[in-house]
Amino acid sequence: MSKLTVIMYHYVRDLKRSRFPEIKGLDFRLFVEQIEYLRRHYRFVTSEQVARSLDGSEPLPDKAVLLTFDDAYIDHYTYVFPFLNRLSIQGSFYVPVKAVSENTVLDVNKIHFTLAGQLDKAYLVRTIKSLLDRLRTDHAIEPFEDLVQKFAKASRYDTAEVMLIKNVLQHGLPLEIRSRVADELFVQTIGMDEASFSRELYMSTEQVKTMLRHGMHIGCHGYNHFWWNKMDRAAVENEIDRSLWYLLEVGVSQDLWTACYPYGSYDDQAIEILKDRRCKFALTTEVGVANLQRDNRYKLPRLDTNDVPKDRAAKLNARYFEH
Ligand SMILES: [Zn+2]
Repeated sequence: MSKLTVIMYHYVRDLKRSRFPEIKGLDFRLFVEQIEYLRRHYRFVTSEQVARSLDGSEPLPDKAVLLTFDDAYIDHYTYVFPFLNRLSIQGSFYVPVKAVSENTVLDVNKIHFTLAGQLDKAYLVRTIKSLLDRLRTDHAIEPFEDLVQKFAKASRYDTAEVMLIKNVLQHGLPLEIRSRVADELFVQTIGMDEASFSRELYMSTEQVKTMLRHGMHIGCHGYNHFWWNKMDRAAVENEIDRSLWYLLEVGVSQDLWTACYPYGSYDDQAIEILKDRRCKFALTTEVGVANLQRDNRYKLPRLDTNDVPKDRAAKLNARYFEH
């Protein structure tokens, strides 16, 4: 068989008892339900099995599924890892190196926690507007109305207002500007220093090593968690190489390393660089079931956890199966 369902997870936690119940995450009890559902209908495979199948040496079992966890949240170490370990299921964990090794918080997480901590989204939009007005005295920043025109569009999961905030702060403004705005909003809303928050949010390198020793897969997710399709070649090489050095340092095999594009940001240049460094395969955020015979191994699609039932008794989800 050549079909592979890859499922993507981000926050997996005991949401109701967490400090930020508004964070858009998967409650651990529903994660358990989903794994039980998958245990009934699918066969869990490892990244090693996927690599062997891509290389033609061993076909995948029917209804193969691979579990992937982005961004090295402590959730994955605290909740997911012990659970998967008990069931002898391999998870693949994609680590943004800087956040883990330098105790910083990714801009994307600053944005998530700002949104979870401040429920009045109109207030956030007004704050962003006034911060930009202030920065405009020294920087060329496009008119706020133009940003609204371009980015205030509802998505699969978010309202137009939330998408405006996310787009503007994730890529709609120059890096330096958007980082400063994300920083200010984070400090205003969370009121906690970045290093302490980072330690609370991400796993440590020691924890990464522990998971690797127990058979989990650890993969490349860049150093700074930048958009790989919005940077020049040297900068993408730097992102990938620094991340790869980290992986080798924690003990990942050079012969079987994989990547997951931050924000799903792939392009031909990024693929060339991965190929050149003999990356085995890379995961996107395109929505679908992978076909290892047909798909480019550097463009494997995934399903979001929300595309898969979270109820152990659910019938097989046919929606994406006939890909
Ligand atoms: Zn990520």
